[in-house]
Amino acid sequence: MQIRRLKLSGFKSFVEPAELRIEPGLTGVVGPNGCGKSNLLEAIRWVMGESSAKSMRGAGMEDVIFAGTATRPSRGFAEVMLTADTDPDGPFGGELEVVRRIERGAGSAYRVNGRDVRAKDVSLVFADAATGAHSPALVSQGRIAAVIAAKPAERRMMLEEAAGIAGLHVRRRDAEQKLRATETNLARLEDLMSGLE
Ligand code: ATP
Repeated sequence: MQIRRLKLSGFKSFVEPAELRIEPGLTGVVGPNGCGKSNLLEAIRWVMGESSAKSMRGAGMEDVIFAGTATRPSRGFAEVMLTADTDPDGPFGGELEVVRRIERGAGSAYRVNGRDVRAKDVSLVFADAATGAHSPALVSQGRIAAVIAAKPAERRMMLEEAAGIAGLHVRRRDAEQKLRATETNLARLEDLMSGLE
């Protein structure tokens, strides 16, 4: 998966709609302190399904919405769109477009290629492509020290993500839940059948 474009509106300091094109090769983002460089990386993690407000440097998830300044009123929503090139033979037929939008008091909503989906579906899309909100490929400030100090179990999670198998954990949990529900149903059925005999 190759990220091609990022569109932000009302996200943190990006109050006006802004578009960042990511061309092949190395892309550098430069600017003075506090101009929003880290906010861009956070926008990528956020649209990939980040659920921790703390890791977005906020107290609650609505803190990603433009909070206003002395001269500009706050916004009611924030939206980030990520466009990526994917395997032409894969499920998204070459281009993937993921949108996450949050409205005050209404929480987050996601769309993948124009279809409403759940947060879990978005996480799986990126996990299957060996990336995601917690991918070690997204190196934020302090992250290198955190990787060095990581416990073996945390390192294993990073390796699983790099190998593209992180999504299997979610699928296994889902399958286990379905299995338990089926076992409960079977036990009830057996009770009912023995009552009829
Ligand atoms: P540095 O080079 O110092 O690390 P940076 O370019 O990475 O800085 P960021 O940390 O991305 O800058 O941006 C910080 C700016 O974003 C601050 O000016 C902060 O006020 C602004 N900001 C963060 N959240 C919001 C919000 N919800 N509404 C408005 N502005 C916000």
